[in-house]
Amino acid sequence: MTIDHGKIIDELDVSRFGRVFVAGEWREAVDAHPVVDPATGQEIGHVGQSSAQDVNDAVAAARSGFLKWRAMSTNKRRACVLKLAALVQEHERELSKLESLDVGLPVTVARNFGVKACYRNLEYFASWMDKIYGEVVPLTGQSEGHFDYTRREPFGVVAVITPWNTPMLFYGSKVGPALATGNAVVLKPSELASWSALRFAELAQQAGFPEGVISVVTGDGRVGQQLCEHPGVDLISFTGGFPTAQKVMVAASKNCTEVALELGGKSPNIIFDDANLAKACMGSALGCFALTGQACAAASRLFVQESVFDEVLGQLKSFASGLPVGDPQLKTNIIGPLVAQRQLDRVMGFIERGKASGAEVIAGGERVNGELASGFFVQPTIFSGADRGSEMMREEIFGPVLNVQSFKRVDEVVEWANDSEYGLAAGLWTKDVNRAHKVAHALEAGVVWVNCWGTVPNAAPFGGYKRSGIGREGGRDALSAFTQVKNIFMDLG
Ligand code: NAP
Repeated sequence: MTIDHGKIIDELDVSRFGRVFVAGEWREAVDAHPVVDPATGQEIGHVGQSSAQDVNDAVAAARSGFLKWRAMSTNKRRACVLKLAALVQEHERELSKLESLDVGLPVTVARNFGVKACYRNLEYFASWMDKIYGEVVPLTGQSEGHFDYTRREPFGVVAVITPWNTPMLFYGSKVGPALATGNAVVLKPSELASWSALRFAELAQQAGFPEGVISVVTGDGRVGQQLCEHPGVDLISFTGGFPTAQKVMVAASKNCTEVALELGGKSPNIIFDDANLAKACMGSALGCFALTGQACAAASRLFVQESVFDEVLGQLKSFASGLPVGDPQLKTNIIGPLVAQRQLDRVMGFIERGKASGAEVIAGGERVNGELASGFFVQPTIFSGADRGSEMMREEIFGPVLNVQSFKRVDEVVEWANDSEYGLAAGLWTKDVNRAHKVAHALEAGVVWVNCWGTVPNAAPFGGYKRSGIGREGGRDALSAFTQVKNIFMDLG
C-alpha cells in the first residue's frame, strides 16, 4: 500500500511550525523553506528562515536570560529542567511521530534513540545541578598565608547547532548540560529537522524558564554562520560534519569563541574468530543499518577474521535482506527512508561507484522501488572486497552501506582499523578478555564497544579522536565542556 501520512499531518498540526522562538515570543519567519516527507517525497509544510535581526535578538535575549537564570536558586532552576523533562516524556508519542514525519526515522527508533534519550538526559543533568563545584588548591610550602580555590562557572550564551539525524537526542545531550550548568541557549537545528526543536521550545515555555534562556532560530547554514561569528556568543556546541566544522572554527576565530565539536566517523568493527557469531552478526548489522545508516557512529567498516569470514558474510546477508524497510510511522519497520533527495543521491552515488570499482554486492545495492518508490528508501547494502584506499572505505557515507573485509592477524587489523582520518567509535567481538582489552587500548577512537555496538549511557563520555571532534559530551565531562574555570587567590594576611 502506498504511504499516506495525511491523517498524521493533520493530527500534529504542523502548519504552525513556520515560526521562530525568540526572547520568549513566537515570531513569523521572514522566509520559509519547504519541508518534504522523506517517506513520500511530498511537500508537507514549511520551516522558517530566521532573519539576521532574529538571531541578534535571540543572542541579546539569551544574555539577559542568562543573568536571570544565574540569579535563580539551584532548586528553582532544577525544577524547570525537570519540568521540561516531564513534559517531553508526557508528549513522547506525539514527539516520536513528529520526528518520524520530519526526518523519516522509524517511529520506534525516534522514540528510543530520540525522545526517551532527550528526557533521560535532561533528568540526568538536572541531578548534577547541586553537585558542580571547584577545588581548593594546595599552597603548602609556596604561598602559605594565602587561600586559592576554583569555581566552575557557566560560559553565558551557548549556541547549540545540531544536525538532522537524531534531533531530539541533542536537545537532551547538548541543551540539557548547557542549561544544567547555568548557561542560556540559542538553538539552531538543521533546516531538515526543525519541527521537533520548535515543539521542544513550546514545551520549554510551558516549563517556566525565564524569557530568553531558550531560543530557537531555524533556517539554513547562514543562521548557524551568523551565530558562530556573533560576539555575543560565548560557546559554540556544534554537532555535524567535518566540512561545516571547519567553517565553524573559522567563524569562531573572529571572537576567539570556545568551540566543542562532535563530528562524523568511519567506524571500524572487528569480529574475531572466537566471537559469538550470531550475536556479533546481528550487532554488527544493526550497528551499521540502525537509523538507516545515518548515524555518526555507524559501524560502516567491518573486519572479519578469515576463518569465519564466509559464515559471517552469510549471516549478515540473510539478516540485512530480512530487515523490515517501509513506512517509518509503522512500529514494525526498522529501516526508514533517508532524510532527503540530496542524501539519497549522495548514498546512491557511493553505491554505484562502489559497484563500478569491482567491489562485490553481497546484499541490497538498489533504491527501493514499488510502493516505496516516491520516498527516499535504499536497501540495506553490503559490499565485500572494496579497496582499503577507496572512498567506500574512507569517506562517511551516512547511509545503509556496510563494507566487509577479511583479516588474518591482530596487528594488521588494528593497523587497518586505525587507518582513517576519523576516530569516533570502534568495536570488537571476542570471548578472549585479554585480547579485548589489548585491542580496545590500541584502537584510535573516543569510544570502543566490546561485544555490543552503539550504547552510550548518560553517565559516559562521548566524543571523537582525530577529525571526529574536539571535547566530550555526556556524563561529568559534559559539565566541564559547558563550564569555564575561575581561580580565586586570596591573601589572608
Ligand atoms: P552539517 O551539514 O555539518 O550540518 C550541521 C548543522 O550545521 C546544521 O544545523 C546546519 O544547518 C549547520 N550549518 C550549516 N552551515 C553552517 C555554517 N556555515 N556555520 C554554522 N552552522 C552551519 O551536518 P548534517 O548533514 O546535518 O549531519 C550529518 C553529520 O553530522 C555527519 O557528519 C554526522 O556524522 C555528524 N554527526 C555527528 C554526531 C556526533 O555526536 N559525533 C552525531 C550526529 C551526527 P543546515 O542543516 O540547515 O544547513
